[in-house]
Amino acid sequence: MEYITATFYKFFPMENSEEMQILFRGLCEECRLKGRILLGREGVNGGVSGNIENLEKFKKILKKNPNFSGLTFREQQTKENSYKKLVVRIREEVVVFGKEVDVNNAAEYVSSDELKKWIDSGEEIVLLDTRNNYEFDIGRFKGARGLPIENFRELPEAVEKLSDIKNKKIVTYCTGGIRCEKATAYMKMLGFNNLFQLKGGIIDFVNKFPGQDFEGGLFVFDDRLVADTGSYKKLGKCRICGILCNDYTDCYNLDCDNLFICCQNCRIKMNNACCEECRNAKRQRNTVKSPTDYKNFVAPRYII
Ligand SMILES: [Zn+2]
Ligand SMILES: [Zn+2]
Repeated sequence: MEYITATFYKFFPMENSEEMQILFRGLCEECRLKGRILLGREGVNGGVSGNIENLEKFKKILKKNPNFSGLTFREQQTKENSYKKLVVRIREEVVVFGKEVDVNNAAEYVSSDELKKWIDSGEEIVLLDTRNNYEFDIGRFKGARGLPIENFRELPEAVEKLSDIKNKKIVTYCTGGIRCEKATAYMKMLGFNNLFQLKGGIIDFVNKFPGQDFEGGLFVFDDRLVADTGSYKKLGKCRICGILCNDYTDCYNLDCDNLFICCQNCRIKMNNACCEECRNAKRQRNTVKSPTDYKNFVAPRYII
């Protein structure tokens, strides 16, 4: 059976988060979807997965609610559910930035089609990756600039160091678009004026132009960890042995829980640990006996 993983977001003043939590939970259960949905005063940020018919039903019912009538979805086909559970939570921020910004002042959108034209025309643009280091490491637009940041809260400080590109034409991009809404709103406050954000993010671009311009794997915030982009380039390096590789693992030492790039061989050799010390640590996530067990391994959730 074919499954779809869909992500969506909308910024709007949500006054009734508790009611929305009940609505989303009920709707996902009715449509047999798994996923992770964050709700708060600033809006909604979610990802769900399920079979095509159920997902279409979910979209149809959700769009009947006036708050979500114009909602758009970034979709990817998968062989199984990308989420193992359904989690609907209320959060202060649906994407944690740590600074007040007015997303109504975010940069103008550029569509994937338009960006493709700009890239192919050879005009000088800076493709600015607003994601974290560990996402940039395994895949990015050719020639893109990273920030570099460990998490999205570090973005304000990092963009203050971009004075060399302040007057250039900049297109920011992230996985599905939500981070660029806040990032560009903030950058405009700093005086970046020739600024655009990629609508629908990398997911929309690689759906339309797989294997072109975006190279490597796409880090995603569900159980897949890495999604296909149509590019077979490996840009990451195994932390243990150094070979080129786009696979991630979570250190099995529960007191470390580090997310790191690791090849299959080293994963087995190290028993899912990021270093010798972690391999010998007492509190291990699991005991993995054979390589086939890795398929059943459920990674903890990384949330932006
Ligand atoms: Zn390795
Ligand atoms: Zn570790």
